[in-house]
Amino acid sequence: MSLVRNWQIGRSMSYWYPESRPRRQFAAVFDVNKCIACQTCTLACKTTWTSGKGQEYMLWNNVESKPYGYYPLGWDVKLLEKLGPQPWEGKQYKGRTIFEAAEAGERALGWRPAEIDYAHPNVGEDDCAGQQIVDGAWYQVPHLSWFFYLARICNHCTYPACLASCPRGSIYKRPEDGIVLVDQGRCRGYQECVKACPYKKVFFNPMTGTSEKCLACFPKIEQNLAPQCFLNCIGKIRCAGFVHLPEKADPENPIDYLVHVRKVALPLFPQLGLEPNVYYVPPLHAPLPFLEQMFGPGVHEALATYRKAATDPDLAGLLALFGSTEQIVHRFKRRGETMYGYDDRGHEVVKVPIREPVQVLTSFDPRRGVAPANVT
Ligand code: SF4
Ligand code: SF4
Repeated sequence: MSLVRNWQIGRSMSYWYPESRPRRQFAAVFDVNKCIACQTCTLACKTTWTSGKGQEYMLWNNVESKPYGYYPLGWDVKLLEKLGPQPWEGKQYKGRTIFEAAEAGERALGWRPAEIDYAHPNVGEDDCAGQQIVDGAWYQVPHLSWFFYLARICNHCTYPACLASCPRGSIYKRPEDGIVLVDQGRCRGYQECVKACPYKKVFFNPMTGTSEKCLACFPKIEQNLAPQCFLNCIGKIRCAGFVHLPEKADPENPIDYLVHVRKVALPLFPQLGLEPNVYYVPPLHAPLPFLEQMFGPGVHEALATYRKAATDPDLAGLLALFGSTEQIVHRFKRRGETMYGYDDRGHEVVKVPIREPVQVLTSFDPRRGVAPANVT
């Protein structure tokens, strides 16, 4: 085991291999508040990558309603229970990561789902938690009843448990962009990766006898294009790009700005120790203890900043850039009421108004002498 730095838990930790960061790390920010669970992302991925034999049950991208939705069943709660208490002291995690809590002879604490756990991909959809709304009660803020949609892909972790656990060395992290891939020629289907990945984002293909996973649409990344699930996202909740270490954060880089500068986007279960590279703007209307467990102690600051986004033109403008172009935006700059996005060569690829223009229609248009049909 090696001692490696994990900035997300504010300390060093044990990992199977020495620290070896890629030249640049593929990363993403998902704004949970904008997801409408239309599953267009899920289908965009499915039709691109997993429509073959043996892949029927695979959802490299899935969207689940939290707290009762899972794919596979209980993926998070089963591991959290196994791991035991997960205390933080300020921004430092004092509990054990899944590498530090590994059982004798294992490289990470994990569990392998049974076939039945994959049987209901959209279990718990729209199920509310919290108090029931009964007999004339009305909705209030914070909501008595709550749920939110959590879109999930492979996190292309800095310290992947799938990679650490593979006895064949079949899983590798690309030095050029940090994307984590399974070498199909080397894999012998031992499924140690399926057991070790806490996010359950490696899937075994019984037809080929190998494990398969999200590949971040790397042929598109190589052309500076966003993956399929990003491009097709109806809610425009997704931003693809590259993240740096906190001390090397570039304030003009969209991901660095959201993660390191404004700290409005947080990793999923950072306490597990993988330094995942998909970051979430947490939902506004869910109980804080639940969100703290899911996104770590930064959740208070993230929500406070996000709540003020409407009066914060840089943040509002950057959020408006999400999903506005297929190109990956490497730099952004605001000029007045317009936000501009630039590619890796500094060329402008998109510009968006920070505030959408509002058209107020009246019930009668005197200039044309007509009543617009969609006004009641
Ligand atoms: S999310 Fe799972 S499959 Fe993806 S890199 Fe991390 S450990 Fe591996
Ligand atoms: S396409 Fe976008 S809005 Fe629709 S479910 Fe996926 S992440 Fe959510």
